[in-house]
Amino acid sequence: MSRTQDLLARRKTIVPHGVSAFVESSVESAHGAVITDTDGRELLDFGGGIGVLNAGHTPEPVVRAIQEQAEKFIHTCFHVTTYEVYLELCEKLAELFSHGERTKVMLTNTGAESVENAIKIARQSTARQGVICFTDAFHGRSMMAMTLTSKVDYKLGCGPFAPEVYRLQFPNFYRYGNGMSEEQFVQQELQRLRESTHNVVDPKNVAAVIIELVQGEGGFNVAPKGYIEGLRTFCDEHGIVLIFDEVQTGFCRTGKWGAQHHYDVTPDITLLAKSIAAGMPLGAVVGKADIMDSAKPGTIGGTYLGNPVSCAAALATIQFMDDNNLNTRAAEISEYIFSRLRDMQQKFPVIGDVRGLGAMQAMELIKNGDPLQPDSETCSNLAKACLERGLLLVTAGTHKNVIRFLPPLVISDEQLAWGMGTIEELVVGSA
Ligand code: PMP
Repeated sequence: MSRTQDLLARRKTIVPHGVSAFVESSVESAHGAVITDTDGRELLDFGGGIGVLNAGHTPEPVVRAIQEQAEKFIHTCFHVTTYEVYLELCEKLAELFSHGERTKVMLTNTGAESVENAIKIARQSTARQGVICFTDAFHGRSMMAMTLTSKVDYKLGCGPFAPEVYRLQFPNFYRYGNGMSEEQFVQQELQRLRESTHNVVDPKNVAAVIIELVQGEGGFNVAPKGYIEGLRTFCDEHGIVLIFDEVQTGFCRTGKWGAQHHYDVTPDITLLAKSIAAGMPLGAVVGKADIMDSAKPGTIGGTYLGNPVSCAAALATIQFMDDNNLNTRAAEISEYIFSRLRDMQQKFPVIGDVRGLGAMQAMELIKNGDPLQPDSETCSNLAKACLERGLLLVTAGTHKNVIRFLPPLVISDEQLAWGMGTIEELVVGSA
């Protein structure tokens, strides 16, 4: 038995099955875009720990920052003592994600915690309770975040879910476009949004709308620009807090600090986590100061929020991204992946769609050329075949039929070419 198999067997014995293993792999060490497993095999990482490693595995300045901060102090609790790395990071995030005249920031540990806190802030700020979310959304696994999450398989048997959550259809042009132009589709979806004030929920009871500009777990569905502009207007008209969940789209993944910078639409609150600290647990809620300040003292926070080692890691990660022009690099990676996928799509009818924003690209696998007939079997076979060849892929989509590309942005051209070549070779065999 290999050491990897041994670890997986021990995992089965001691860790509950609910903590599922999406990929049957192990790790001994990881640097740049490569994971070395416990059997000494190298795996090229196209999943980046599910979008956490935009700056790559173990970037040297981040490791150093973690070590240096750990030697000073690891925890005192921000509610008890004030420390500068926390403030420095908040100031940096307010600069990168400016929310109008004055921006305020609170730190969290995870994406789900960012979601929970944002909803509490929006409710206190509006004195309303309702939250509108979307089909195919993913916002985390805590109770409110899970309620806001769409995919039923993530929620089986976990109810009752949080009340006052209303779900609209995500403007998924590929799936529901049905021969329309994008402009016509956007108009139709905005009409659906306006109608929701009559057939879904009274907007006077809606505190927030939460949306991913590019749905992550949902399969990299990109919200049309016109829709997001219309959604901003809708929220302004009804005094609703607009929340962008940029947990997966943030920090250079799309070629900008946030996907919102492609849209020229400023939300009231932005949620961050994942790649913010190169793998250290950290998240953030960034928002307009008056909204952020409406939460009463004691209603938001927690023992570990904004751990100093994580804050130091985040500051070093952001500096590393800047120094290495990872936004520019993401644009190059995006072009390369997109053109290789487009070529493959011409050859293999199983590839129904190729889409994304920046280096957040995906291919959707379908049967019989029909977007409504997902091919999850080919998708899972392809991921397994790639893993055997040393390429780690992660899938996505409510129907598990999307291969998503989240390689570390420090990946070399040669590594990228090898990875895409491997997929091209294997997509045929897996069909
Ligand atoms: N929001 C989005 C858009 C995500 O992709 C995720 C994680 N996949 C989350 C929230 C939840 O983040 P976490 O797992 O850190 O709680």
